[in-house]
Amino acid sequence: MALLFAHPTVSVFIRHRASCPFAGDESYPKCECAKWLRYSLHGKQRRVAANTRAYGTALEKADTLQKQLDAGLAGKPTVAPDKKQRTIAEAIETYLTAKETENITPRRVKKLRFQLGQFERFMADRGKYFPAEITAEDAITFRAGWTRWQSTTRQKAQQNLRGFLRSCCKENLLELLSVLKTIKLSKADKARLEPKPFTEKELTSLLKQVPVSFSADAAYAAKMTALIHLMTSTGLAIRDAVQLQRAAIQDGWLRIERQKTDKAVRQKLSFSLCKELAAIAKGNPQYIFWDGKILATSAVGMFQDDFAEGNAGRERVDQGQRGTSVSRYGGGLLARPGLFYD
Ligand SMILES: [Zn+2]
Repeated sequence: MALLFAHPTVSVFIRHRASCPFAGDESYPKCECAKWLRYSLHGKQRRVAANTRAYGTALEKADTLQKQLDAGLAGKPTVAPDKKQRTIAEAIETYLTAKETENITPRRVKKLRFQLGQFERFMADRGKYFPAEITAEDAITFRAGWTRWQSTTRQKAQQNLRGFLRSCCKENLLELLSVLKTIKLSKADKARLEPKPFTEKELTSLLKQVPVSFSADAAYAAKMTALIHLMTSTGLAIRDAVQLQRAAIQDGWLRIERQKTDKAVRQKLSFSLCKELAAIAKGNPQYIFWDGKILATSAVGMFQDDFAEGNAGRERVDQGQRGTSVSRYGGGLLARPGLFYD
């Protein structure tokens, strides 16, 4: 049979924000805009979100997709049956690759990589390199090293470890899971996680912080400011705010169903907020904040990460000499649980 179409080649391109100075050049790799993958298959062009803003990560994903396409087209299964025993380090790589395709944000993949890397080194120090060698005693001793962490951090770390063990352990899996029992939250942790409304003073600091943290992109800073205005004046959760449709505010009233509770929200918006939101939505046919292209969960994750990273960037500047107590305070507010993390 003749080959009708050329062999697909996966390449990376960039969907710039309208405000990006490199908006005209879809191959410019150094900005913070969303990266996408593109290839032609059976005469049709396909585009998929790389779900990352890092060009290097996008290239790695392009490479993975290329291998899958090559293998699929050659009639081979994409994953060869694995008779050889994998090491813990190899199992971690496989696990992280699978996680990366599940639309979790780059920041979370990085955390996962860090935690599992610690586990791999812990096991290597004990002279063990294969998942089948992990014992209940190893798991308990490893977990005992987390005592200085808050119980929420320990909970997350244990969830991550259990997920990883499930992906690679067989004979010893049940024993390992049985010793990694649920970590209960302390009273202090529960109190810390309660959403706390911002005080007037905190809100002022927070809004002052935004243009400083996002000084590289004035339009994006305006978007973040509008998002904060919207969330604080309506009490909307970040996922509802990020996915707010233009139609939901068209007559000056907010009309939506909350995603978490299915409860209807009907609320009059102030004239200034309406004007601000309309300016942000300009050029977007359907939504106000979200471009509607990447998955909604990724969009929410990206906004959350941007709040947290705006904060991290600020902290680094603060460690130099030009930091002020106001910016440190405002920076901390960007990442406070409750408002931006639900
Ligand atoms: Zn860009």
